[in-house]
Amino acid sequence: MSKVLPISFEFFPPKTEAGKEKLVTVHSELAVLAPEFFSVTYGAGGSTRSNTRDTVLGIKAAGSDVAPHLSFGGDDEAGVLELLNSYRDADIRRIVALRGDLPSGMGRAAQLVHANELVEFIRKHFGDHFTVHVAAYPEIHPEAASYKDDVHWLKEKFNAGANSAITQYFFNPDAYFYFVDECYKQGIDQAIIPGIMPITNFTSLQRFSANCGAEVPRWMVQKLKSYEDNSENLVAAGVEVITTLCEKLVVGGAPGLHFYTMNQTNPTSAIVRNLRG
Ligand code: FAD
Repeated sequence: MSKVLPISFEFFPPKTEAGKEKLVTVHSELAVLAPEFFSVTYGAGGSTRSNTRDTVLGIKAAGSDVAPHLSFGGDDEAGVLELLNSYRDADIRRIVALRGDLPSGMGRAAQLVHANELVEFIRKHFGDHFTVHVAAYPEIHPEAASYKDDVHWLKEKFNAGANSAITQYFFNPDAYFYFVDECYKQGIDQAIIPGIMPITNFTSLQRFSANCGAEVPRWMVQKLKSYEDNSENLVAAGVEVITTLCEKLVVGGAPGLHFYTMNQTNPTSAIVRNLRG
């Protein structure tokens, strides 16, 4: 892998003091790999509003470029504007703009605002201050009416002013390459950066994948299920599988890689070091 291929690392905002302390260490260990930026997720419905902001500001203060994830969640326009103003004032220059999901229990009480509308809102109020990343789904968003529809709405996010997309994770590189081709045919020429999920726990990987519509191929299930969750062997096998996936993506022309680190230095760091040789 070329040393200049842009990589980025995603964190979730820790809830506990121990989690916060650990993230300081993980951030400094991953910063050594010179990512283009870190990003910090935003809890469903805005449930991590202040935790996300505190984590973002901590990473910024430690000297890294950082992108808060953001959705309207349960907030009104004034609430979202206030949060964006606080990011602009802290010289944050990127946002990952999402519709998000509702937390369980919130039912349909709140209205979800589609990501293209959030992108429009950001451009309307902040012009070009922020580089805006949006989400894309090579295996198609679970609620999408059709493949074509999902590509159409991704295009609307770009039409609204998004700069690039980061994908949901996937394990089949063909799904990504086919998706990028379909997007290109529909006039999308912005970067679509693969989201990469390192493997640390087989049970939660299967559960989470079923929820978000990411297919775990049968050969991977067969290979990985024989290891106990969190065992060294599982992680080592996962590093091998994900390194191979990344190599195929890079050879095929992926414009960068975004790693879902799960707030752990490894296995992400091992995969990046493998790729750099
Ligand atoms: P949208 O782009 O709004 O799409 C949602 C669905 O609606 C799709 O089926 C789409 O086809 C359709 N659609 C889109 N626009 C319209 C429209 N205007 N009218 C009608 N239909 C439309 N979740 C979190 O809670 N917090 C996070 O921090 C977070 N980070 C993520 C980061 C990445 C890189 C990715 C890939 C996902 C992330 N998610 C996060 C999950 C994401 O919020 C969910 O997948 C959510 O269900 C969809 O968000 P979206 O921004 O893709 O929505």
